[in-house]
Amino acid sequence: MKPLFIGGERVTTSSAVENVNPSDISDVIDTYAQAGVAETQTAIQAARAAFEGWAFSTPQERHDVLKTTGDEIIARKDELGTLLSREEGKILSEGIAEVTRAGQIFHFFAGEALRQTGEIVASVRPGIGVEITREPIGVVGVITPWNFPVAIPAWKIAPALCFGNTVVFKPAELVPGSAWELTDILHRAGLPEGVLNLVMGPGSVVGQTMLDDPRIDAITFTGSQATGARVAQACVTHMRKMQLEMGGKNPLVVLDDADLDVAIEAALNGAFYSTGQRCTASSRLIVTQEIHGRFVDGLSQRMRGLKVGHALAADTQIGPVVDATQLAQDLEYIDIACRQGGSLRGGNSSMTHETQGFFLEPALITETVPEMRINTEEVFGPIASVIRVRDYEEALHVANDSTYGLSAGICTTNLKYASDFKRKAEAGMVMVNLPTAGVDYHVPFGGRKASSYGPREQGSHAREFFTTVKTAYTAP
Ligand code: NAD
Repeated sequence: MKPLFIGGERVTTSSAVENVNPSDISDVIDTYAQAGVAETQTAIQAARAAFEGWAFSTPQERHDVLKTTGDEIIARKDELGTLLSREEGKILSEGIAEVTRAGQIFHFFAGEALRQTGEIVASVRPGIGVEITREPIGVVGVITPWNFPVAIPAWKIAPALCFGNTVVFKPAELVPGSAWELTDILHRAGLPEGVLNLVMGPGSVVGQTMLDDPRIDAITFTGSQATGARVAQACVTHMRKMQLEMGGKNPLVVLDDADLDVAIEAALNGAFYSTGQRCTASSRLIVTQEIHGRFVDGLSQRMRGLKVGHALAADTQIGPVVDATQLAQDLEYIDIACRQGGSLRGGNSSMTHETQGFFLEPALITETVPEMRINTEEVFGPIASVIRVRDYEEALHVANDSTYGLSAGICTTNLKYASDFKRKAEAGMVMVNLPTAGVDYHVPFGGRKASSYGPREQGSHAREFFTTVKTAYTAP
């Protein structure tokens, strides 16, 4: 059994769950200890007790832990990428790329630890000095989803530690393996006891205990909109800082003047790679009428060529859906879309390839209109819908007509439309001639409307959430 990490100790529990490979349900990766209310509260206490020491640690100490962690992650990227693909189901090249990115994030924040600055401002009063500094917030609760098992924990934990906070980390139930390895690496890199605590277990128990505990000063959460709303309510009750990254219904606009190959590639990648299980997936393809037929035919042809299968097989391009519940949800949305008038291409599901897993062929649903549920609700699978529109103005309107606002893309060769879309798209991230998914690790990440709440994640903007500002006045 892989234990919890509480106060620097490895803690086993009476209950444990199996981590099952979605590509092959006969493959049990390991068993993982499960925290209950008591273990979670002990972890919160350990983080509290460790806070003062870590808050006043030197930038060099923090740099060294983060740098050593990044070095080990990158050195072990093939092994950790294999574990990630085995537990989550994204293909091996994607698993290794995600692990590499996690290592790069730790290196970025190792550097940020050495770049902590303040401001000296002239007072409006004579003889007074004014200093503006940043301080850690305190104990940060990190609650993460299953779809990026190592990158999302990395982009929350690395800045939390960089700026002197201590952490209680609760990973998603389906992917404890990557979370466990990351925590183990950080401990061996020299993190003092209690600075990072890992509590694996159900959201309704471990996550809820974190939300209810006033000793947690801030929560950074990524997951569904429904859970995000619960997190928000609890944070308001406790007057604590929060950062929420939630769902998306990301539009990719394809205009008549687009380079057809570029548009098809962007749609194929954005909608279906990583099995469509990305919050930034291109799930709404909004296509103007002249190019519509060629685009749909070309995309369908490329989809038919995609090899669905075991995530670790060398020739697989689309791995399985993460579990039975997600597969049932995907199939239900395909069914709803067809019943509401959509026309389906692909979308066959089969448990049996060479192994038994949750396999689903990419699905494209054409002839849809914006009001259909397939265009208003996040599905989170290898499923995209096509909405035919008259012109750019209608495309922009449809793109923005969503409760979500994470990422938005446009394929066009016209600078006027590209510039206008960058300006007017109601999204945190805008892509021109690129998929809506796939971002850099050193620049802000996040969205608007129901997709995000609170300051941006990643890059130097991460400082906004993970620090609090102090203004000090000194009279001579
Ligand atoms: P989820 O909301 O089911 O779970 C997210 C986390 O919250 C898990 O660790 C879960 O255990 C925990 N949780 C559940 N109930 C809780 C409670 N009552 N109190 C506290 N914590 C609780 O989401 P998921 O299914 O793991 O992930 C998929 C979702 O994540 C999708 O909606 C996707 O769009 C979103 N996502 C968003 C981003 C982004 O940056 N915007 C990135 C990746 C995924």
